[in-house]
Amino acid sequence: MSGELSQALDATEGVEVFFRDDDAGWEDARLLELVGRFAEHGLPVDLAVIPAELDEPLAQRLRESHAGLHQHGYAHTNHQLEGRKCEFGPARDRAAQHADIERGQARLQALLGDRLDPFFTPPWNRCTRDTAEVLVELDFVLLSREHKAEPFGRLPELPVHLDVARLSPDQLDERFAAQVREGGPVGVMFHHGVMEPDDMARASELLELLANHPHVTARSMRDLCP
Ligand SMILES: [Zn+2]
Repeated sequence: MSGELSQALDATEGVEVFFRDDDAGWEDARLLELVGRFAEHGLPVDLAVIPAELDEPLAQRLRESHAGLHQHGYAHTNHQLEGRKCEFGPARDRAAQHADIERGQARLQALLGDRLDPFFTPPWNRCTRDTAEVLVELDFVLLSREHKAEPFGRLPELPVHLDVARLSPDQLDERFAAQVREGGPVGVMFHHGVMEPDDMARASELLELLANHPHVTARSMRDLCP
């Protein structure tokens, strides 16, 4: 699957890559398996954690892991009556968004302590300018969305470029290669919850390639936060 990506990595002088896995709080067994695969390869991974879905047993496992931990919305609920799904979309006013994000932040601080990074990934990678304003008020220092989204300019952003779950192996190879040619940091997004054993095996192959290629520098979101 990685012919074109390998060639692009060979041809570049160096590229930074980071990995964000979303929806921690769902499908714990798959989550821990994926985190374990990153650890096996000595690669960092950042988990976007759903506050309302995190319980103490999982929180303990995450505190003991090597993963970076940050906030993924509040309950991963869609509030839009039509159009694309959003938890923090135009259907929610600023006060409602503030209440949710603050409640989620407090819950994660209580369960994760100083392992929590003040970063925010909105569910479905989408939110509004109001969300960015609220994040600044609540002392968040980094927002991570989709790379096609226009930056709000209110706080630093670290977008993701590739959704491993949605791309076929060939598409992933081609798009990852294109992103490497464009330059990094390249944000690679995983969704452990939908990863079947085949997907886990393919993810391991990808991690193996990236971990061993001399032109790849794997970064945590914390490393890349300005
Ligand atoms: Zn999500």
